[in-house]
Amino acid sequence: MNDQFTAAAAVLKKLNQHGHEAFFVGGCVRDLILKVPVNDIDIATSAKPEEVIAVFPKTIPVGIEHGTVIVREAGVSYEVTTFRTEGEYTDFRRPSSVSFTASLEQDLARRDFTFNAMAMDEEMRLYDPFGGKRALQNKVIETVGDSRERFTEDPLRIMRAFRFAAKLGFILEERTKSAAGDLAFLLKKISAERKRDEWLKLLSSPYAVRALKMMESLSCLQQLPGLSSASTELSAADWTNLRTNAERMALLALLLKKTEILHFLREWKLSSSDIKMTSAILSAVSVCRLPLSWNLYTSGVDTVISALRVCGAAAGFCTYAEEERMQQAYQQLPIHARSELPVSGLEVSRFTGEKPGPWLGELLMMLEKAVVTGEITCSKEDVIQYIRRWKDERNPPSHA
Ligand code: ATP
Ligand code: MG
Repeated sequence: MNDQFTAAAAVLKKLNQHGHEAFFVGGCVRDLILKVPVNDIDIATSAKPEEVIAVFPKTIPVGIEHGTVIVREAGVSYEVTTFRTEGEYTDFRRPSSVSFTASLEQDLARRDFTFNAMAMDEEMRLYDPFGGKRALQNKVIETVGDSRERFTEDPLRIMRAFRFAAKLGFILEERTKSAAGDLAFLLKKISAERKRDEWLKLLSSPYAVRALKMMESLSCLQQLPGLSSASTELSAADWTNLRTNAERMALLALLLKKTEILHFLREWKLSSSDIKMTSAILSAVSVCRLPLSWNLYTSGVDTVISALRVCGAAAGFCTYAEEERMQQAYQQLPIHARSELPVSGLEVSRFTGEKPGPWLGELLMMLEKAVVTGEITCSKEDVIQYIRRWKDERNPPSHA
């Protein structure tokens, strides 16, 4: 047993000691069998939420109505959820009711894919009623039960199938695959927030391109927000070097030649900070032809590097060496902010003898650009000479 599970086993043990059944469930069991890093350890138990709260000194009732309590044990948080079955999915969002059950098997039966429907007890004994381990060995993604029913109940599972294909490099089992293709239109019924979460995980996974190709061939891709005209351009890009969701969404917008960027990002219900970052990256991409120094100064080095990675991903070139060069070029800029100019706004205004107005901001920006692009040095002398020339051009001396 690895350390992560040894520590978590203490939670199972405590629940057992109080007469409750308790198991590791879902992704952590799958990842343990696959010997890949485990994200978080989820626990399912026969104990009702109040009973879980009574067993542990530190708990956070995050979703009592769904049976979930967070238990803090030795500095780690575990989601502990009461065994449950789900009622009908009436609005394609969440089941209209959840009911607690005393049966582990019923809890596993509501889960999406066979490899996500396994459990392990405190002794690390595996409970695998739907053949999840075999699916892992065969590298296939198959729904628990009838694929059409399960996808109709919650069409997000169609996206999750591709998300796991992107994460694990697996293929979809035949019936699961044909149901995904036939029912892809139901993805339109799902809230953008739920789709966004799976989509961003998919794009950041190692086999993203393979999953995108599958989605494309089953006409699932076109059901996503703003992607109705998407085709082979998405799977032709190299998504693997991108680091942030903002970079991924910027590449998406670039590949789809989106012009209404804000509308597109809002359709995906991106957070406002991600919208800001994605837009900044796309601006840095679009000003690529400006002098590099000015792009670095106005966009910031991190945004320019993100833009570079996005362009590299679109065109299929590696950008590591260029990223290094950008860092150096940024360090070497003569100034990094307006406050580093050798004159202040007030001094400029005094020197020109004009009252501050919009002209002042414009002139300061011209000065910054002249210094940053090397047209003049950052000495007070050069800057004053520049202002003098500007003043002469604005108010040519009369020769009358
Ligand atoms: P990851 O490690 O990538 O987060 P995960 O398997 O933990 O993978 P989650 O989205 O965190 O994925 O979901 C936890 C578990 O809850 C899944 O393993 C699955 O058993 C169940 N699950 C999640 N979403 C659904 C769904 N829409 N329908 C049925 N079961 C689901
Ligand atoms: Mg998880």
